[in-house]
Parts: sequence; C-alpha cells; structure tokens
Amino acid sequence: MLDPFFSKWHGIDRTTIEWGPKIDPEKCTGCGLCVVTCGERRNVFGYDVEAKKAVVMAPLHCMVGCDNCAMGCLWDAITFPDDTEYVRRLSRSIPKHQIALELEKKLQDNPHLVVEGESEQPSRR
Ligand code: SF4
Ligand code: SF4
Repeated sequence: MLDPFFSKWHGIDRTTIEWGPKIDPEKCTGCGLCVVTCGERRNVFGYDVEAKKAVVMAPLHCMVGCDNCAMGCLWDAITFPDDTEYVRRLSRSIPKHQIALELEKKLQDNPHLVVEGESEQPSRR
C-alpha cells in the first residue's frame, strides 16, 4: 500500500526509488523502538504482537535518505542499501525548478522560516 501523499519524492516516482528498511527477524528482539521512532504519518513499521517482532509494512513511506531507525536499533536488526552514493545521485537528479517550487511553497506556508538579513551559506557540494 502506498499513501498517495508519499507517491512522489521531489517529483520523482517513489516506486522507482529503492530506499527502505529491512529487518532481520533473527536479530530483532521486539523492543519496538523502530515502531515508535518512525513518523506517525509514515508508519513504515507494524508490530507482530504474537511473534513480538517489528515488521516492515510500508517501505515506500520511508523518507528517502533517512536511517534513524537503523541508527537507533541496538541489535543492528535494521539495514538499508549499502550504496552511500545512491541518495546523492538521486538528489542530483531532482530538477532545480522542482526544488525552487517546493521552497517557495514551504516559505509561503511557514512564514516564520523566512530569515531576513545576512546568514552564512555553506557551498553546495
Ligand atoms: S528497534 Fe530493532 S530490535 Fe527493536 S523492534 Fe525495531 S528492529 Fe526489532
Ligand atoms: S528510516 Fe526514518 S522514515 Fe524510514 S522507516 Fe526508519 S525512521 Fe521511518
């Protein structure tokens, strides 16, 4: 199941992006941290109450580039694609006008994020 809200990632069809967690059930102790860590709307994980294991229910809801749940899992039961350049390549493929449109909308919807005056900007690598 894919919530239409997550069907695109910066204009790119989310079903074409291979980013999402995998759980090794042999390592999972069922602590539940990943279930409560993942954002309420994304809810990538469900929980098998009989087996006492977390299960991946909606991998395409995973935020591209996020690996918070894997970082937090004390039993190293969660893995993501090894290719660290993968997300960078995806980011480079986002059309610049797409980012500009999203930024404009975000600042319109959240005027408190607009900073007036000078601020140091790191260069984009
Ligand atoms: S954080 Fe790790 S051990 Fe805990 S439920 Fe999730 S996968 Fe299992
Ligand atoms: S990486 Fe982030 S968005 Fe993806 S499942 Fe884990 S906590 Fe949720």
